[in-house]
Amino acid sequence: MRILVTGGAGYIGSHTCVELLNSGHSVFIVDNFSNASVESIKRVEKITGKSVNYINADIRDEKALNELFKRHNFDAVIHFAGLKSVGESTEKPLMYYDNNVNGTRVLMSVMEKYKVNSLVFSSSATVYGDPDTVPISENFPLRTTNPYGQTKLVVEQMCQEVCSANDKISIVLLRYFNPVGAHHSGMIGEDPKGIPNNLMPFIAQVAVGKRAFLSIFGNDYNTPDGTGVRDYIHVVDLAKGHVKAIEKLHNKTGCHVFNLGTGRGYSVLDMVAAFSQVSGKKIPYQIKARRAGDIAQCYAKPDLAQQILDWRAEKTLKDMVNDSWHWQVNNPNGYE
Ligand code: NAD
Ligand code: UDP
Repeated sequence: MRILVTGGAGYIGSHTCVELLNSGHSVFIVDNFSNASVESIKRVEKITGKSVNYINADIRDEKALNELFKRHNFDAVIHFAGLKSVGESTEKPLMYYDNNVNGTRVLMSVMEKYKVNSLVFSSSATVYGDPDTVPISENFPLRTTNPYGQTKLVVEQMCQEVCSANDKISIVLLRYFNPVGAHHSGMIGEDPKGIPNNLMPFIAQVAVGKRAFLSIFGNDYNTPDGTGVRDYIHVVDLAKGHVKAIEKLHNKTGCHVFNLGTGRGYSVLDMVAAFSQVSGKKIPYQIKARRAGDIAQCYAKPDLAQQILDWRAEKTLKDMVNDSWHWQVNNPNGYE
């Protein structure tokens, strides 16, 4: 298939492009490089030995998208482009609604115009808010606690409504749990700007000596060791989930929703221990107050993806940590 990948230069997008190319699809990337580097695309080309076309454009630029869709005959779109920082979204909610919601609206209206009827959208487990129980199934109540999560929820709803209005459209909403790790080659990985918000890149930077210690946000949660529990999933497993979603469902009309997680939860202290073991480095940490908006535990029931997409996460915690460490050591300053 000829697939347009929005945000394809970013963390999950670049890994997905590798898996799409390895599966024989062609990809075209649209990215405004607000949180990415052209270097990631060059490395995707090196890993796969295939060339990748891209344009530097914003998905809110309707004129640029029209030109693109006019010139190319896309079979489907995988839509990663968006802003993803929960903290920043509480400070700049309008920027998040504009980029994530309005950007998706513009993209979907151009898809409609050019009759490109298949879309896969990056949603998030954040749409479940603080769940009453775990593991989390797709039919759990949806409620979010911050503007970022709200933008995901609004886009999900917009997708459901577009599917109700047009019976030719197929949309797959993939709710990711916590993507971590990097490509086994060590050539592409997560390259956060400034101080990382997320646990794994932060631990990696402590291990490599860029930061003095990890702050652990709370050890008084109702979890086995008191620290927060999450469902960490290897980014390459996640990327393969997109290939399955597009291959299995691009012709199946309607709106389809899947959790992409492993079904297993690990605590912050589990992650520290695993990283320390793999890297051979001590990871100094300090226990701090809980981070506002954090929940105790969150992990998926991933059975639906296994049944319908024939997909399940295969990589272990050791793979995740090994590959993160390999990427971090090879690229201490990311793509710079
Ligand atoms: P990322 O920031 O690495 O990738 C997003 C890409 O989109 C970047 O390359 C950025 O330059 C581009 N972009 C942003 N706004 C754009 C716009 N208006 N026009 C064109 N390009 C634009 O993030 P990621 O971790 O790869 O996440 C990809 C998607 O998955 C996002 O939608 C994110 O919300 C979602 N998601 C991520 C996580 C996570 O923990 N990484 C979890 C759940 C969901
Ligand atoms: N966390 C932490 N210190 C950090 C970053 C995160 O203790 O510097 C904890 C956080 O409280 C949560 C877990 O690690 O329990 C995962 O956080 P992350 O931000 O990676 O993902 P999310 O909050 O989106 O699940």
